[in-house]
Amino acid sequence: LHNIYQDLKGQLRVYCRVRPLSAKERQGGEIEALNIDRSTLEVKPGDVFEFGGVFGPSSSQEEVFQESRDLAQSALDGHNVTVFCYGITGAGKTYTMYGTPQEKGLAPRMMQELFEAAEGVRVSGSMMELYNNCLVDLLRPIDWQGRQNPALGLKLDKGKVQVEGLVKEAAESAEELQEIFQRGLEQRAVAAHAMNVQSSRSHVVFTVYITRETGGEIESTSKLHFCDLGGCERLKKIEVKSWDTDRQLETIEINKSLAALGDVIEAIARRKKYIPYRNHKLTQLLQDALGGTAKALMCVNCSPAQSSIRETANSLKLANRAKRV
Ligand code: ADP
Ligand code: MG
Repeated sequence: LHNIYQDLKGQLRVYCRVRPLSAKERQGGEIEALNIDRSTLEVKPGDVFEFGGVFGPSSSQEEVFQESRDLAQSALDGHNVTVFCYGITGAGKTYTMYGTPQEKGLAPRMMQELFEAAEGVRVSGSMMELYNNCLVDLLRPIDWQGRQNPALGLKLDKGKVQVEGLVKEAAESAEELQEIFQRGLEQRAVAAHAMNVQSSRSHVVFTVYITRETGGEIESTSKLHFCDLGGCERLKKIEVKSWDTDRQLETIEINKSLAALGDVIEAIARRKKYIPYRNHKLTQLLQDALGGTAKALMCVNCSPAQSSIRETANSLKLANRAKRV
C-alpha cells in the first residue's frame, strides 16, 4: 500500500516555504508581501504559483517533515531520493534542510526516521561540495590552503553515478550519521575561510547510502541526497561592475548549474524522453536520483519581504517549470 501511495505522489514533489520576517527586517519597516494559501502563493495580484504544499511563516520544522517523511521509507524500499532546497540567499534553505539544534530541519529528522524504520540495512554517508564546477570531498582532510586536490571525478556506470575516490563512512545510528555530516560542514567552513569563498555560492550534497541485505545477499541499494543549493539570486549590476572577478565567476557558475537543474526538472515534469543531465556536474551528480524511478522533493524557499519580491518571483519560476503538463 505504501508504494501505491508513493506512486500517486509521483517522482517530483514541489513545496514552497516562506520564512518569517526577521526582527531586523520588522524594525526596518519591512512588510510581508506574499499571499499564502494551502497550495498556492500569490506574489502580486494575479501572479499565482501552485505547489504540492505551501508552508507559511508560522509553519514548524515538524510540519515540513510530516509531509516529507514517507521519502525516508521510499529510500529504504530501494528508491533513490533527492531532497533539495532552492531559493535566494537568506530565504531559509539551510534552516529548512539542517535547522538548528533546537529546531532540527529535514535532514536530521529524516535520518532519525531512517534508523527507526530500518531493519537489516547498512547505512553510510558522504559529503560533497560543488564549487565553481569543482567537486570536493568534505570528509577528506583538507590541505593548508583549505582545499584538497585533485577534484573528484564523476562517471556513470550501468546507469549508476560513481564519484571516484569519494569517502563513505559507515554509521550505526542517526547520531553517528549526524556526526559525519557535522564534520563535513565544519571542513567546509574551514575551506571556505581559507579560500575566501562565500558559502552561499556553492552547493552542498550530503548523501546517505542504504544497503538492504537478507541472508547475506544484497537485496537493494539506494541513496538519499540532501542538497543545500547555492543562492539563486541574479548578478546585480553593481557586482558586474565591481573589480572582484572571483565573485562574478562564482555567481555565473552557480547560475549555470541552477539553470541546468531547471532544465532537468522541466524535462522530468514534462515526461520527456531525453533529460539533459550532462549539461552540468550538478545534474550529472544527481542523475540516478532525479527522474526515472527516483523520487525528488524540491522545496522552494522564499523571503516574505516586499523588498525581495522580484527575486522571489524569479525563484518561483522554477516551480512553474516543475509543473506536469
Ligand atoms: P539560506 O540558507 O537560504 O541562505 P538561512 O536558512 O540561512 O537562508 O536563513 C536565513 C535566516 O532566517 C537564518 O537566520 C534562519 O535561522 C532564519 N530562518 C529561515 N527560515 C526560517 C523559518 N522558517 N523560521 C524561522 N527562522 C528562519
Ligand atoms: Mg544557506
